[in-house]
Amino acid sequence: MAHNDTIARFTRGPERESDGLPESITLQGETFPTPDLETIGAWVTGFFGWSYAQRLEAVDGCELFEADATCCHGAPSWLRALELI
Ligand SMILES: [Zn+2]
Repeated sequence: MAHNDTIARFTRGPERESDGLPESITLQGETFPTPDLETIGAWVTGFFGWSYAQRLEAVDGCELFEADATCCHGAPSWLRALELI
């Protein structure tokens, strides 16, 4: 199958108190809990030019090689889903 750039529809859960990020993202009927701030921070750091300390992930858990990419199932990266980039 060709690479799919279409982002699947997703919704953000309520804000979590610890950091104001959505506590989860719901994608195609499945809810995925937002990773902890340390993980997200490492992704953001990587996006701004330092090396990636963390494996980049799409919301559905697929590995990504670019922070603003979409996996083959149409799931956005966490950074995109959380509107951090
Ligand atoms: Zn996927």
